[in-house]
Amino acid sequence: MPILKIFSRYVYDSRGNPTVEVDVTTETGLYRAIVPSGASTGVHEALELRDKEKAWGGKGVLKAVKNVNEVIAPALIASAIDIKDQKAVDKFMIDLDGTPNKSVLGANAILGVSLAVAKAAAGEKKVPLYVHIADLAGSKNPVVLPVPFLNVLNGGSHAGGRLAIQEFMIAPTGASSFAEAMIMGSEVYHILKKLAKDRYGQSAGNVGDEGGVAPDIQTPQEALDLISDAIEQAGYTGKIKIALDSASSEFYKDGKYDMDFKNPESDPSKWLTGKELAELYLDLVKKYPIVSLEDPFAEDDWDAWVHFYSATDAQIVGDDLTVTNPARIKTAIEKKAANALLLKVNQIGTLTESIQAALDSFAAGWGVMVSHRSGETEDSTIADIVVGLQSGEIKTGAPARSERLAKLNQLLRIEEELGDKAIYAGDKFRVSVTL
Ligand code: PGA
Ligand code: ZN
Repeated sequence: MPILKIFSRYVYDSRGNPTVEVDVTTETGLYRAIVPSGASTGVHEALELRDKEKAWGGKGVLKAVKNVNEVIAPALIASAIDIKDQKAVDKFMIDLDGTPNKSVLGANAILGVSLAVAKAAAGEKKVPLYVHIADLAGSKNPVVLPVPFLNVLNGGSHAGGRLAIQEFMIAPTGASSFAEAMIMGSEVYHILKKLAKDRYGQSAGNVGDEGGVAPDIQTPQEALDLISDAIEQAGYTGKIKIALDSASSEFYKDGKYDMDFKNPESDPSKWLTGKELAELYLDLVKKYPIVSLEDPFAEDDWDAWVHFYSATDAQIVGDDLTVTNPARIKTAIEKKAANALLLKVNQIGTLTESIQAALDSFAAGWGVMVSHRSGETEDSTIADIVVGLQSGEIKTGAPARSERLAKLNQLLRIEEELGDKAIYAGDKFRVSVTL
């Protein structure tokens, strides 16, 4: 079925910054995708094209919108490529751009079209989006609902306060369904908010960019104590695990890690070496039920990653390290630097390359956690991607704020639609492709 029209406009994301929206129209209807945007972005990510002009403080996306409307739209429509052939559509745009990091057209322009085309193809096939994505990925059993890694306490570049580690997530692995996981997560979230206010004052209940509470605390131990107490008060000790995203590239300075990086007067003599930071993580893993650590070290500090890999059984997730890029993933597999991929579609810029990144990771025995960005929208595509890939784990913020819940709510609907066929990944989240 041919594409009748492709039209792009800008809309606003959850931080109030403009972002690219794309409408693809076919005979079966209009299909829409909105592109997300990160704050703690990796230097190796594909290029997000921003106007860098006065409007919107340099964050305008008018050039990316124009690239969709004036370059991609006429060329792709004229090509008459079958929209069900996502590989051909994405390759066409990659060639049209002609650069390795999509810096001519912008990864945000290309991704908007890529995702909207996938939705149009699902519409043409009259199947849910996750079924179409499962077809594209060759998934065996796309009925697995992921464990939601709920980011209930925000720090780093996503919040004020002194905490260096960016994300403290709870993972209800002991639930029997996704819906039950959300009940457990929501209960803990509300208890945590109350505890944070009781201990640190009213403003501790204010939330960061991803909807988690953001108390002005300094150490990861304080954050983990607060979360452990909330889990215990809710009655879920043992059933809810904890995960961290350090986003440590943000506080890597002169070869060391500054756990006080938001303080302009931070004392360099206190900055940690990679080995010292690894010791800190190992202590935390011993003391708290931590099952997953993301970006524990900076994006090019390979030696620290390799050292840590052999010291723990926890999941070690590459985000800024691997940037959903098959070449960086290959290096991380060969070096034994990580054992899981954080999959962010806008880090690489097409659905096809994102699927390839997941397949390469699965082939190496890695886990794959599908992820939102800190700047998000009502677009819920990643919910269908996580089920379509059968990857078993998703992180999409706190169980609060609608740009986060858009994805979690979509997963509730998918679980309902699958009925008896649905399988909750639970404690098999790292190997859910084998379910
Ligand atoms: P970002 O944060 O979207 O701001 O990059 C999310 C993450 O680091 O995982
Ligand atoms: Zn991250």
